[in-house]
Amino acid sequence: MTASPGRPVPRRVGIMGGTFDPIHHGHLVAGSEVAHLFQLDEVVFVPTGQPWQKDTSKVTPAEHRYLMTVIATAENPQFRVSRIEIDRDGPTYTIDTLRELRSIYGPEVELFFITGADALGAILSWHNVDELFDLAHFVGCNRPGHRLTDTGLPDGKVSLVEIPALAISSTECRERVRKGEPIWYLVPDGIVRYINKTGLYLDDRMAGGER
Ligand code: ATP
Ligand code: MG
Repeated sequence: MTASPGRPVPRRVGIMGGTFDPIHHGHLVAGSEVAHLFQLDEVVFVPTGQPWQKDTSKVTPAEHRYLMTVIATAENPQFRVSRIEIDRDGPTYTIDTLRELRSIYGPEVELFFITGADALGAILSWHNVDELFDLAHFVGCNRPGHRLTDTGLPDGKVSLVEIPALAISSTECRERVRKGEPIWYLVPDGIVRYINKTGLYLDDRMAGGER
């Protein structure tokens, strides 16, 4: 993600973090809906480097995940992709990402961190959660199979929103590819073609190349 000459400085910026292994329509609908509901100037998709919550030996190399995110978002002028997490060494922490985005966009920007219900639940259990809430407003989206409740949420720091429910997960997409089942219409067409071209997810040991 670089500054574009001539573009007005964005004031309200959504951040959609994820492993995106692969990116699917659930991610894209969440970004699009929250952009609409919160009148965001843009949404930045941030593929994770080494997610500390996941077994990194099972995560596809970052460059594939980054390229798929670029392909999936390319046609939407409001969507951008950032390399900040994949270019940063060591495990990925959201707090570092929010601090870095704040310094890129400047102190005036309002950041909205977009998550699904499952990810929001996990975030609320983190230690430095108060500092996270100081850096961004959090937006939790419903996700089939995960319940969102507003009990225990800090006042004014988190919004829960209803988006069109899509029961799609990256885990399910990877499984389907491995079993030879179609993923058309669960992910953008370009992602189906990228996965076919690279052979990603065909085999537990080989998928993603070097692991
Ligand atoms: P995996 O199965 O590998 O964990 P995933 O489908 O959960 O993949 P992630 O990259 O882990 O995708 O998720 C990134 C963010 O997108 C998280 O905040 C997650 O809650 C949210 N998200 C993923 N799928 C959906 C969906 N279908 N609807 C709403 N939010 C979603
Ligand atoms: Mg997930």
